Amino acid sequence: MTPSIIAIDGPAASGKSTLGLRLAHALGYLFFDTGVMYRAVTWLALNRGMNVNEEHAVATLAETTPIDVAPASASDGRACDVIVEGKDITWETRAREVEAHVSIVAAYPGVRRALSAQQRRIGLRGKIVMVGRDIGTVVLPEADLKIYLDATAQQRATRRYHEILLRGGAAEYEEILAKVIERDRIDSTRDVAPLRAADDAVTIDSDSMDADEVFEKVLALCK
Ligand code: C5P
Repeated sequence: MTPSIIAIDGPAASGKSTLGLRLAHALGYLFFDTGVMYRAVTWLALNRGMNVNEEHAVATLAETTPIDVAPASASDGRACDVIVEGKDITWETRAREVEAHVSIVAAYPGVRRALSAQQRRIGLRGKIVMVGRDIGTVVLPEADLKIYLDATAQQRATRRYHEILLRGGAAEYEEILAKVIERDRIDSTRDVAPLRAADDAVTIDSDSMDADEVFEKVLALCK
C-alpha cells in the first residue's frame, strides 16, 4: 500500500523540497514545506523591527500569528504560497536576512511548540509529503515512510550556488558554504527537536546521485 504520510528530513539545501514536490505531484498528495513557517516567523519579527534574540517576544509572535501555507498560485518557481496577515510573503521568506536568522528563531522551544502543533494537525490528515528537519522524529513520528536526505556541505553549497546563478542572482560560493555549515550547526545542536535522522528513516546520500535518481529511488520505496 502506498504510504499516506511521508516525512522528508535533512540538512539545508539537500534537495528536500525538489524531491518532496515531485513526489507529491506523482502521488497526488499535498506538499508541505515546514521550513517556510520558521522563515515566515523570522520575516515577521524582522519586519516589525524586533530583536530576534528576544525569545519571548518572538515565541509570542509565532503563537499569535496565523501562517497560511497553500499550494503555489503562481508558476514563478515557488513550491507553495506563504500568506501572513493577508500578504503574500513567499519570496520575502527566501531573503538573505531571513536565512541568516531563521535557525536562531527555530531553536526557541515556544516557536517550535506553536508551529509543530499546526504541522502535526495538517499532517495527520494524510496523503501528504511533509518536509523539514524534525518531521520523522517529532512532528509525525508515525509517518509511514521516513526519508533522511543527506549530502556533504560542499555538494549542497554547490547546488545552491548554481540555483542562484540560474535565477539570475549573484552569489559567492564560499559565503554560501559558510552559511550552510552554520545553519546545520545550529539546527543539529539545539536542545529541542535537533536535526537528525529518525531511527526508522531510510537515509539517502545524494552526493553521487542527481535529482532524478533520488526521485526514482524514493518513488520505488513508495510502491
Ligand atoms: O528548509 P528550510 O531551509 O527552508 O528551513 C529553514 C530553517 O527552518 C532551517 O534552517 C531550520 O532552522 C528551520 N526548520 C526547522 N524545523 C523544520 C523545518 C525548518 O527547525 N521542520
